[in-house]
Amino acid sequence: RSGKNRYNFYDGSKNHNTVQRLDIENNMRQAVASQIHEFVVFYQPVVDTVTKKCMSCEALVRWDSKALGFMGPGDFIPLAEYLGLITDIGDYVLEEACRQCKIWNDKGYKDFHINVNLSVVQLLQQNVVENVGRILSRTGVNPRNIVLEITESFAINDMERVLKIISGLKALGPRIALDDFGTGYSSLNYIKQLPLNIIKVDKTFIDDIVEDEYAQAFVKLIVDLSKTIGTQIVVEGIEDIEQYNLLKEIGVNYIQGYYFGKPVPANQFEFEYLGKVLN
Ligand code: C2E
Ligand code: CA
Ligand code: CA
Ligand code: CA
Repeated sequence: RSGKNRYNFYDGSKNHNTVQRLDIENNMRQAVASQIHEFVVFYQPVVDTVTKKCMSCEALVRWDSKALGFMGPGDFIPLAEYLGLITDIGDYVLEEACRQCKIWNDKGYKDFHINVNLSVVQLLQQNVVENVGRILSRTGVNPRNIVLEITESFAINDMERVLKIISGLKALGPRIALDDFGTGYSSLNYIKQLPLNIIKVDKTFIDDIVEDEYAQAFVKLIVDLSKTIGTQIVVEGIEDIEQYNLLKEIGVNYIQGYYFGKPVPANQFEFEYLGKVLN
């Protein structure tokens, strides 16, 4: 929220005053323990630039707290990670998204897929592969229609361990996306080392892309690179038609942004976006 090209690491003593933080903390513990349905999954369309069809989306969590009101992920995910509650919330989001994906696949959108965010805290849990495997089989979703997004904006200290986990997740069927590409510690190194299917270029590169030749060159470079190494590119944060036209011209195949649609609840998504040609 403090602007582009900045990182804010969570520090429990600074982000909120103590009373406020305790209030959120207590409410979050309670919600996770007995009101998990307060966490609601919204879906944002991803659009194919050639067909303009919406054949996938990203699952994005919100917390509709009875006590505290409606919150976006920026308001509670860092604290959830800090408190170790992110795994419960993340598992819930994954399960909801898998169920939803199966429903939409069964309605005839056979290849429709859903992207789900995995926090790094969640990724580094001992039993993450078993956990994800259990959720996939319990929901009966076709695992190939699930994409797991892993953010690039963290330092991988133990590459061998992360590689093993990501390979384990991939072996279950889902595809792997590198999220927030270009904002992190070691972008090109991650692309080289991790078994990725998809690279999601961060919004910060798109904000000024119409005027900024450097940003254009950067996206061109990633598109070329992705063709060589056989990954897909999704560009995030497209808000207007100029950005859309430019990215289409550069050769970007998938686009996600307010220009096509904001994250919305499942029923609204089905009505407005599922399998539709968007304009
Ligand atoms: P993200 O994974 O990079 O998700 C994209 C964010 O950019 C979403 O914000 C989305 O609403 C926003 N966005 C998409 N297009 C546009 C646009 O054109 N303009 C603008 N201004 N924004 C756009 P949201 O939903 O607030 O989520 C923020 C972050 O919270 C996500 O960033 C992700 O890192 C995290 N998050 C959300 N849901 C989950 C979850 O279930 N698990 C975990 N671990 N993290 C989540
Ligand atoms: Ca994401
Ligand atoms: Ca992202
Ligand atoms: Ca982001």
